[in-house]
Amino acid sequence: MTIRTKISLWYAGLLTLIIILFSVSIFGVIQAAIITSIDSELAQTSSNINRDVRVIPVGEFGALETGIVFRSEEIFDIPGIFVQVWQTSNGETEIDPVLVQSSPNLMGSADPLDRSYLSTDIPSFTNAVHKNIPQRVMTRSFSTVGGQKIGVIQIATSTLIIEQVNQVILTTMIIATGIGVVIAIGLGMMLSYRVMRPIQEITAAATLISTTNDLSTRLPDDLPDDEIGRLTKVFNHMMTRLEHLFGVRQRFVTDLSHELRTPLTAIHGNLDMIQRYGSDESSLQAIRQEADRMTRMVTEVLTLARADYGDIAIDLYPLDLDEVAVECLSHAPQREHAKGRDLTFKLGRHEPVHINGNYERLQQVIDNLMINAIKFTPDGGSITMAVYPQGTHGVIEIQDTGIGIAEENLDRIFQPFYQVDDSRTHVSDEDGAGLGLPIVKWIVEAHGGKIQVDSKVGEGTTFKITMPLMEKQENLAEQESHSASSRQQDYSL
Ligand code: ADP
Repeated sequence: MTIRTKISLWYAGLLTLIIILFSVSIFGVIQAAIITSIDSELAQTSSNINRDVRVIPVGEFGALETGIVFRSEEIFDIPGIFVQVWQTSNGETEIDPVLVQSSPNLMGSADPLDRSYLSTDIPSFTNAVHKNIPQRVMTRSFSTVGGQKIGVIQIATSTLIIEQVNQVILTTMIIATGIGVVIAIGLGMMLSYRVMRPIQEITAAATLISTTNDLSTRLPDDLPDDEIGRLTKVFNHMMTRLEHLFGVRQRFVTDLSHELRTPLTAIHGNLDMIQRYGSDESSLQAIRQEADRMTRMVTEVLTLARADYGDIAIDLYPLDLDEVAVECLSHAPQREHAKGRDLTFKLGRHEPVHINGNYERLQQVIDNLMINAIKFTPDGGSITMAVYPQGTHGVIEIQDTGIGIAEENLDRIFQPFYQVDDSRTHVSDEDGAGLGLPIVKWIVEAHGGKIQVDSKVGEGTTFKITMPLMEKQENLAEQESHSASSRQQDYSL
């Protein structure tokens, strides 16, 4: 059963119940009011008659008996009211009820108005049928002065008209309830349609996405700011993020295949050469180099992918950032790209910087930046490193006098596989694949730090890393553990 049908049925059911309860209550109240009014009229008539009744001893042949007499018979002549007076005992002896007096409108009928109550002792109101006409009957007993019950009086009035009116009211209520139920079902359907329409649109959009893979699908977001409106906004926001993430993944896969194709083509070419002309040292060397390049690339991609999933935990411990920096600088001239080149390596401002960090990862960061500086600085240029504390942070700067990076590319160089599209930047065949800076950024951020780049084409580039000093980092670690669960939620989208 659909939610829409359920809402309609619930709505119609509840409305029907309310209508029925309402009708029954009104009907009950009207009935009670009418019966009370009739009963009080019967009671009033009974009191009037009672005042006019005398119970007297009647003597015949010496026996002493008791009889009921009335002062006048006019009191029985009340329009619409039937009266019967029955004698049920003769002094102390019970006798068969004898009709003593009855109202003229009964035309002498000796049929009791309510036979079953003729022997009652207490005043009672009953419903009875007399000569096929429904009646409301009041029965009340007479007693002698000594308290001996001697007879009863029954006063009745026809309730035929009331029953007919009841019938009309009941029929009207049944018809009105029926119409109410139909209207309730109609309204329920309309209401549920209005409520469910946006959900149906969301379902349709989700179905479209799952069948066509079209992540650009969005729902109309002109809905009011209610639950459905907010659901629509969340859905659209989720689709925007999904589209972005999907695009990033797509680009990542395309770039990766593209980057892997170059070394694979080189390996194939060299293998063909060996097949044709036999093995030679330079072909084997080239194959080894390309295989190394591919291994490096795959390792970097794996690192980035695992970092993205939050899969790599970096161990942080107290260390001197200035020592790591100086060590990396001292090895720089011996690096592959620097060999035989005319480059000057300088140590600028140099002060102790204590941070919580990971030695190998920080080395990886500085080496990556140094290699880039070496690769993109022409002969005769210089590379300067500085390391110093600044407020609550430690700073490490690597400055070169190289080719520089155009302003529009400054943001993009931290995206995976991004390499500035400029032939001047490709210094040798063993260039990286544009994965170095994304990894650097991830490591710096995992240390609670930030990386900035400042560059001018033709003049040089400065990478500046800031990382919290030890004390600051300890607080950060605490905060990290508190926010770990919320970050997990970020990944889960
Ligand atoms: P790659 O392995 O290609 O060096 P990176 O991610 O380390 O990849 O760098 C991305 C791109 O940023 C480089 O291809 C280069 O175009 C640019 N770049 C990085 N460092 C420098 C620098 N010091 N001078 C000029 N350009 C740089």
